[in-house]
Amino acid sequence: MIVCRSAPEIERMRAANRLVAQILVALEGAVVPGMTTAELDTMAEGLVRDGGAVPAFKGYRGFPATLCTSVNSEVVHGIPSRKRPLVDGDIVSIDIGVKLDGFYGDSAVTVAVGDVPARTQELLAVTRESLARGISQVKVGGRVSDIGHAVQQWVEAHGFSVVREFVGHGIGEQLHEEPQIPNYGKPGRGAKLAEGMVLAIEPMVAMGRPEVRVLGDGWTAVTKDGSLAAHFEHTVAVGADGPLILTARTTSTGATTASL
Ligand code: MG
Ligand code: MG
Repeated sequence: MIVCRSAPEIERMRAANRLVAQILVALEGAVVPGMTTAELDTMAEGLVRDGGAVPAFKGYRGFPATLCTSVNSEVVHGIPSRKRPLVDGDIVSIDIGVKLDGFYGDSAVTVAVGDVPARTQELLAVTRESLARGISQVKVGGRVSDIGHAVQQWVEAHGFSVVREFVGHGIGEQLHEEPQIPNYGKPGRGAKLAEGMVLAIEPMVAMGRPEVRVLGDGWTAVTKDGSLAAHFEHTVAVGADGPLILTARTTSTGATTASL
């Protein structure tokens, strides 16, 4: 069953998702060569709890941390580690979920550590834009598969590939609700979008082949071919007049960025 939220419920979801957005801005700004993902995780948990929320991932099916931090060929669900500091040229996906006032928020960004090659910058830009294109399909009367279709078209037009094994999801009083939102496929399929649905849309894109495998830790998904992968995610409500990006990040001047 896909739940449609009332306007007051959407407002409560805005609070959880605004906190997620603010924390991601802080974390993105903190990433420097030499720091560990465990340090990022400690910072994140502090910010979540300062915001009156609880980390959504910590304890979820036994996941041990506030953040999923996925470095280079890690696609999603990487476990923060104090073993390997980030180095210049890495990319790191930072994925965070929180629960506040009974509702979940969920968002992710992939950050370049120091200077990365042009093709890596392109991977990040294309994945970010594929998310924007998926979000642009969020409208009353549209279909779930219109989102993934738009993502896939953009990604493959740039010579990258869409990871199939993981999908976006409905979100609300549970972290993962119906519907599942694949990042590929034909348009015009799946559930019809209705006002009040809230969707976590999260393209995962590989520079090489799309196949992934899960490491022995039971969590970390990596590309089988070892190619780099990027991941961006927003929580988006279906509004009467189009998408409402609940995790939209604001700049230090207070302006909302165009695609994020
Ligand atoms: Mg997430
Ligand atoms: Mg998610």
